[in-house]
Amino acid sequence: MWYLTEDREAVLTTVREFVRTEVAPQAMEIDRTNAFPLDLFKRAGELGLLGVTVPEEFGGLGGDQTTHALVLEEIAKSLPVLTVAMGAHSLLAGGLIEMIGTTAQKSRYLAPAASGDIVLACGSTEAVGGDNQVEFSTRAVLDGDEWVLDGGKVLISNIGVADVYVVVAVTADHVDPVTKAGLSAFLIPAGTPGLGVGRPEHKLGWHGSATGSLSFSGCRIPKENLLGPLGGCLPAMFVSATAEFLSCGPVSLGIAEGAYELALAYSLDRVQQGESLFDRFQVTRHKLVRMYAEIESLRALVYSTYAERDRGELCLAQGRLLKVKGAEVSEYVAREAIQLFGGVGTVVDTGVERYWRDAKVMAIGGASVEALMDVIAGLIKRRLA
Ligand SMILES: Cc1cc2nc3c(=O)[nH]c(=O)nc-3n(C[C@H](O)[C@H](O)[C@H](O)COP(=O)(O)OP(=O)(O)OC[C@H]3O[C@@H](n4cnc5c(N)ncnc54)[C@H](O)[C@@H]3O)c2cc1C
Repeated sequence: MWYLTEDREAVLTTVREFVRTEVAPQAMEIDRTNAFPLDLFKRAGELGLLGVTVPEEFGGLGGDQTTHALVLEEIAKSLPVLTVAMGAHSLLAGGLIEMIGTTAQKSRYLAPAASGDIVLACGSTEAVGGDNQVEFSTRAVLDGDEWVLDGGKVLISNIGVADVYVVVAVTADHVDPVTKAGLSAFLIPAGTPGLGVGRPEHKLGWHGSATGSLSFSGCRIPKENLLGPLGGCLPAMFVSATAEFLSCGPVSLGIAEGAYELALAYSLDRVQQGESLFDRFQVTRHKLVRMYAEIESLRALVYSTYAERDRGELCLAQGRLLKVKGAEVSEYVAREAIQLFGGVGTVVDTGVERYWRDAKVMAIGGASVEALMDVIAGLIKRRLA
């Protein structure tokens, strides 16, 4: 592949071995039990995979974005939900700390986050709506040397396992509907009195992401736990969200490849009247070719987009396209893979339908593709694409 270099190959060798020996053997069990894969998460930290792009001075590998994409793709082939936990931790919460944290906050949190010694979560979504971030019920009021938070969040990943929650709250009389000025970010350590952590939801897919609600009732944190400018965290959130949308490209690519590999192997192995399904049915062969074509098209889009990002030339619309196109391709390939398996494709233990369930959530978690399409349309109209 044109995007593979010696350095990237070295990281790939590490991640492939990790996936083969540690991730793959646990993947089905994590899906069955909905348990957060904490041991794999910590192990990823030990191997440097939680801090691929974090600067070396803060304990990371100091690698480029393309290397990060390769890591995500490889893990998602086997256990997509591990990349989801990594994204909430490194891209959303960690990304905000890296961008707008004080030197003291960066020194305190980034190195232990990169090594997996602590787990981070990022809470923005509320019951009033995740895609349209205008109305927020969570408020923070300064009382002496402490911020006091009241309100609640829903559908937040890494709850219960997180050591620190990055939480967005209103700190002004109202949030400006256009600039979103009035929103601030805070660092809330787990166990802070007044912080309530719900039970992980039982979802369609992404089993094990520990996604659920947070509540704040007179939750007091020191004044210095404000993260970034008072009332002005949104520009940084926009950048961290862009990183998360981008990451949906390689994760979706991994999901599609995982489902395709199973379907191809099954079509070659299953014999009817002396012939494999692959040799017997033209429709089977053609489905596999179309799946392959979609995967290779997505691969080209993912790695050319990441190359642009590494050159500092990424445009906003292109970043968002990765999430939209990735969700579409992974859902299509996983759906066709189930079809090629026939009846056993619907049996959970076969392992193929898990990819479809995970692909479906890709189109919503983090932001719905419909809301993103509107953002992309706005960028195209203003010729910012
Ligand atoms: C598994 C999972 C993990 C998550 N983890 C986190 C997390 O760690 N942190 C966090 O803060 N949030 C998290 N979320 C929340 C996620 O970001 C929201 O679910 C998402 O933004 C959609 O918001 P909503 O669910 O409130 O849907 P709504 O905003 O109510 O939207 C419902 C539907 O309406 C349509 N719609 C909404 N807005 C628009 C628009 N502007 N244009 C066109 N159509 C629109 C779309 O079809 C959308 O699916 C997670 C969600 C899931 C499912």
